Amino acid sequence: MTEADLPRTDFHPYRWGDPAHRTTLPAAATETLAAFGVRTPEQPPAELAAIPLAEPAVDLAALAEVVGAAHVSADHDTRLAHTRGWSTPDLLRLRAGDASDAPDAVVLPGSHQEVVDLLARCEQLNYAVVPFAGGTSVVGGLAPERAGFAGVVALDLKRLDAVLAVDEVSRTATLQAGLRGVEAERQLREKGLTLGHFPQSYEGASIGGYAAARSAGQSSAGYGRFDDMVVGLVLATPRGTLTSGTAPKSAAGPDLRQLVLGSEGALGVITSVTVRVRPLPAERVFEGWRFPDFATGAAALRRLAQDGPMPTVLRLSDEAETSVNLADPAAMFGGGPGGCMAVTGYEGTAAEVAARRAAVTEVLTAAGGQALGTEPGEAWRTGRFRAPYLRDPLLDAGVLIETLETVTFWSNLSALRTAVTEALSTALTAQGTPPLVLCHISHVYETGASLYFTVACAQTEDPVGQWQQAKQAANAAIRAAGAAITHHHGVGTDHRATYAEEVGPLAIEALSAVKAVLDPAGILNPGVLLPRAEG
Ligand SMILES: Cc1cc2nc3c(=O)[nH]c(=O)nc-3n(C[C@H](O)[C@H](O)[C@H](O)COP(=O)(O)OP(=O)(O)OC[C@H]3O[C@@H](n4cnc5c(N)ncnc54)[C@H](O)[C@@H]3O)c2cc1C
Repeated sequence: MTEADLPRTDFHPYRWGDPAHRTTLPAAATETLAAFGVRTPEQPPAELAAIPLAEPAVDLAALAEVVGAAHVSADHDTRLAHTRGWSTPDLLRLRAGDASDAPDAVVLPGSHQEVVDLLARCEQLNYAVVPFAGGTSVVGGLAPERAGFAGVVALDLKRLDAVLAVDEVSRTATLQAGLRGVEAERQLREKGLTLGHFPQSYEGASIGGYAAARSAGQSSAGYGRFDDMVVGLVLATPRGTLTSGTAPKSAAGPDLRQLVLGSEGALGVITSVTVRVRPLPAERVFEGWRFPDFATGAAALRRLAQDGPMPTVLRLSDEAETSVNLADPAAMFGGGPGGCMAVTGYEGTAAEVAARRAAVTEVLTAAGGQALGTEPGEAWRTGRFRAPYLRDPLLDAGVLIETLETVTFWSNLSALRTAVTEALSTALTAQGTPPLVLCHISHVYETGASLYFTVACAQTEDPVGQWQQAKQAANAAIRAAGAAITHHHGVGTDHRATYAEEVGPLAIEALSAVKAVLDPAGILNPGVLLPRAEG
């Protein structure tokens, strides 16, 4: 299963992806879980039809006046499918039958102007609006605060799914915000182009979500983050339209594109972006590496990030993650090769790939790495979109499994990894559920890198509360270590308080002032990214 052959189907509200790709746990994993004290929960997940929803509290006819009756829905399953996102607490709540954050209605505008008109109408009616792209937020970005509003409307961008323009000379493409990542890539490939953006949520996420949450794909070493790719965008707000990006670079004032990127629906609805695209690579080679320990591997990655050459994909698992092969469920918990596994990937012309691979091999070998050949690299490439499918059977089996990420400077990376690992271990062990904490370096820069943690342990009777305690401990450790609360998942509601501490009150006041101008009634994603305005 590679990025080229992922179909995009509508997801079940709490089961990931295409039913055809669903998976079960291998026997080795089941035995290991029993040793960790994992027990199947007494209550199976709620049947969708049995999950109760409050009566919709919005005027559907008023919304239909803007987008047409066919594009407004308040039916049970549609509302459930737009309830929260894909964090483990989001899933656990829905599995427990709690859909209290469901929107009253789902509205699907068909043009930029309809989005502008819809926002104006929602402002008049005092409805909160949740921009909804792929719905894969893992930070509570789709669960705004309802208090003070007459209703909540999910503004699903699905109908804005066109490739509006491709400029092959400048190598840019203008994509509508509701276009699925998978579909954008498919259409670009027909023209011999690629966006090169492959987050692990690729099967579910959309262009607007990438932009609004400043996503980072697994090939970020070669293609950059999504916010690096955007050269222009169009934002619909309750006050009208804001466009930015008349040229690739400009010295005219602060870059307003960067103000909108990462604004998570709190400042407006991004309806299209113009992104840099690249020629589809003729050659792709992925390779595995082994390092004796994490420190040696991290130093090797830093050498590449600082002095080059850079592969297109570059990541390093720690010892624990190396021994639990998340990319290959069949081999999961089967015992890894020992040490720390790294993956390098190269994309480009055959000659360029060969030259870059040879140069990287020289650097990594000199830095203590052992080349394992293409087999483990290819296994990672073809297995990487399978890992999200594992969460469902693990939750079914009674495992609490969740991920979090952070980023810091190289000089602080080792201390950060130790601090977060210890905080998670201490918080969960104190609840009687000692965890497995896995970590990898997921994205590298000249000056630092991001760390991505996967945590697994037995569920207690209250797995949501259990995770909240662990997450708070991790957040506190990230703050105390001086790292950033998020590298690519975003702020949402889950990180809002820690983000406010990180950037300070003046920054929050300045951003809130921008929001007050673009969204004076505060209807856009209230409580996401920024605290609600008082009064
Ligand atoms: C299994 C899994 C793996 C993941 N892997 C990665 C990864 O590798 N890299 C990564 O970066 N992230 C990852 N994520 C997180 C998530 O997929 C990203 O944040 C992604 O960019 C969200 O895109 P989306 O289309 O699903 O957006 P949504 O979840 O629909 O929206 C995200 C936020 O942006 C707002 N929003 C959405 N569209 C717009 C718009 N057009 N205008 C304004 N605001 C908008 C929403 O209200 C919400 O607050 C992962 C999530 C899951 C569940």
